[in-house]
Amino acid sequence: MVVVGGGIGGLAAALCLAARGAEVTVLEQAEAIREVGAGIQISPNGLRVLEALGLGEAFRDISVRGQAVSLRDGRDGREVTRLDLMRLDDAQSYRFVHRADLIELLARAVRDRGVAIRLLQKVYNVVPGPMARVVMCTGDEVTAPLVVAADGLHSVARPALNGAAEPFFTGQVAWRAVVPNVVDHPAEARVHMGPGRHMVSYPLRGGSAVNIVAVEERGGWVDEGWSHTDDPANLRRAFAGFGGIVPALLDTVETPGLWGLFRHPVARRWHAEGVALLGDAAHPTLPFLAQGANMALEDAWALAVAAMREGGPRLDLYQQWRRDRVARVIAAANGNAWKYHLSNPLVRGVAHLGLGVAGRLAPGRMLHQFDWLYGYDVTELT
Ligand code: FAD
Repeated sequence: MVVVGGGIGGLAAALCLAARGAEVTVLEQAEAIREVGAGIQISPNGLRVLEALGLGEAFRDISVRGQAVSLRDGRDGREVTRLDLMRLDDAQSYRFVHRADLIELLARAVRDRGVAIRLLQKVYNVVPGPMARVVMCTGDEVTAPLVVAADGLHSVARPALNGAAEPFFTGQVAWRAVVPNVVDHPAEARVHMGPGRHMVSYPLRGGSAVNIVAVEERGGWVDEGWSHTDDPANLRRAFAGFGGIVPALLDTVETPGLWGLFRHPVARRWHAEGVALLGDAAHPTLPFLAQGANMALEDAWALAVAAMREGGPRLDLYQQWRRDRVARVIAAANGNAWKYHLSNPLVRGVAHLGLGVAGRLAPGRMLHQFDWLYGYDVTELT
């Protein structure tokens, strides 16, 4: 079998398939398996997949256990409400990790399983069939009974199965940076909310660093690339009205990444004969619920179960198991941005008051809302 893409989704899929006895090759366009420096939140639903692959302990060693999600008024840093993640038991903890560390862990496990990772392999197209064809940019071809396209946001396989679809700009841009922990950041994800913008911060690597994602509403943007960098002065200017720990963190940012956030439709077809889409290739997800990678991990498990069935592969089951759940997650993520960005002071005051009261009177209930998300166990599919 061939997996296109050596990101979190592709490596996890290779592992899940190899664990079920498949012979797998990963084709990755880059010259090395590595990640841009940034953090990622892995929630209990994603962690269950890592646990089931035997990577739970190693993952806990490289990640920070999140104790809470704290929503704050960005102007003064005052806490509006708090989601106590310590109510989740240790086995299903919520964790913060550096993406590079997670990728390294997965790549090592993949190699230990005997999976070949071939680098500098840029795929041009994927053609379904009894033996699916992977057409490389060099013109060479590779065939396999199953090709898993885990080639991310700009997947070549998604349009091959679904036709081209135009993403649309959400009117938001995001800066991303990892900075030294100059504020003694507690082990929690803080959402600093303000009119038309918000910033998320959480600690990484034993608390030595802090991950920052700062989102601002904007009129226009030209390109969906991931590789833009920006002058840190622009980021500081955008969050100039913010207080609490925000100014000290932003003071240490050197070269933030900046990109436009685009919405893509969830792919209608996730599979064709001998081809399956996985992760962002099937369903690019906005970062407002921190679930893109978690969904890719869940996909990887479900796909391997469906592809390696005793009676033969059932890729239709894979789509059936995954599509509605992923669509619900994406809808929830899409809904979060406006809640964080309330501009009208009156509406903001009422919303913050409501959140505060709900958090104090029924904290369990707030967590309960996440039961459908964090409580889901894809590894029950066998
Ligand atoms: P990718 O990670 O994009 O990997 C695709 C791989 O395929 C890459 O290695 C690429 O080089 C390779 N590739 C692409 N095209 C080709 C080709 N033609 N030929 C060969 N190889 C190719 N998710 C969470 O769960 N938690 C979070 O906290 C979180 N935070 C986020 C914060 C931000 C700001 C953003 C933007 C996203 C965040 N996400 C988060 C989402 C998450 O990063 C993605 O959903 C996840 O990385 C998708 O994994 P993937 O393997 O599908 O794709």
